[in-house]
Amino acid sequence: MRTAWRLSVAAWLLWLAACAHPLPHAPAPDDAATGPRSLLLVSLDGVHPDDLARGDTPNIDRLAREGVHARWMSPSYPALTFPNHYTIVTGLRPDRHGIVHNTMSDPDLGRFTLKMRDAVGDGRWWGGEPLWVTAERAGLRTAALAWPGSEAAVQGVRPDRWFLFDETRPIDERIRTVAGWLSEPEDTRPRLALLYFEHPDGAAHAHGPGSPQLRAAMREVDAAIGRLLDELGRSGAAARTDIVIVSDHGMAEVPAGQVVAIEDMVDPADAVLVSAGQVLGFRPQAGREADAERRLLGRHAHWQCWRRHELPARWHYGRHPRVPPIVCQMDPGWDALPREHIARRPPGTRGSHGYDPADPSMRAVFVAGGPSFRRGVALPPIDNVDVYPLLARLLGLQPVGDDGDPRALLPALREPGEVADGTGTPAH
Ligand SMILES: [Zn+2]
Repeated sequence: MRTAWRLSVAAWLLWLAACAHPLPHAPAPDDAATGPRSLLLVSLDGVHPDDLARGDTPNIDRLAREGVHARWMSPSYPALTFPNHYTIVTGLRPDRHGIVHNTMSDPDLGRFTLKMRDAVGDGRWWGGEPLWVTAERAGLRTAALAWPGSEAAVQGVRPDRWFLFDETRPIDERIRTVAGWLSEPEDTRPRLALLYFEHPDGAAHAHGPGSPQLRAAMREVDAAIGRLLDELGRSGAAARTDIVIVSDHGMAEVPAGQVVAIEDMVDPADAVLVSAGQVLGFRPQAGREADAERRLLGRHAHWQCWRRHELPARWHYGRHPRVPPIVCQMDPGWDALPREHIARRPPGTRGSHGYDPADPSMRAVFVAGGPSFRRGVALPPIDNVDVYPLLARLLGLQPVGDDGDPRALLPALREPGEVADGTGTPAH
């Protein structure tokens, strides 16, 4: 009994020493006992760090406590859903991957909105190289349950298994599907799985951040993640599954009445509206450029507008041809919509995002756990372009997108290995 106890203490000390002194070279992410590791990337749309550790999310909180979490994660500009989901899987700012907004125009491709299934499924909109394309080309199976971009054949490649986004798909069905994938035998099991939950975003938009409805949505998705972790534990997959939970952006409260009519910002005869909401794009009408600029450019009561090439440098935005000539940024807590939309808006407090990524309300979350991660690590704030190099490393892939810093998240890893100077990580 005593000997066994001593042995287990010795084993524990050895394990602790291994954690404290990581090996100089990152080994291949395989385990002789359990086979190759899989990576599950989960998005909780619209979740702010304040939504965690509030008593609503015991399962995510436990994962954070026993694994790794960042104090917060800054979204890329614009702090909108599609641009940021695609940044997380490409390692590129929206200005480089081309999903520059949820609503865009392109001279060759026409119009893109979240609800236009043909556009969303058209690979020509999606630039860069999402991680699942790199993985598939390297012979690793991938599966996505409705991650933005995964419905399109990007460079002619889709995840091995992919689904059209369907908000009516029950949460339990999503969990069963993903737990099933990760529990499959090695020859069919995806090495990269992606899972998306839109529920927190929907509740916070309709009722505001911190609302009872948002908190109920948080409890619902957290319980789902708890069931997923239980399933992985039961099937034995937990020992070889790394889990990264992120959000795309936070959420700001928009008090009743804090909405500007776009017709009051500029005369539609002077400029065409490309995108509304919080990040507005305008294209001056031919011959009316000077009038449009005179009316729009500069600081206003609740917003500010720039020529696209003169936007603040820290936003890394304005070069892609899909960015309209004039971009207006609303102040946190303010929306801008066509007057007819304002008339249809339900009264009361609501929530919006798409504000300056530096505004605390826009902060997103990063939580990770699993065999590749250290235990009990609290990271300083991170930038969401830094997540992609970590994901590539976990899969043993050479990163393609290079806007992130491959060193930023190394302290999260049990075996961080080496990083080549400036350009990425060595492939394994
Ligand atoms: Zn979102």
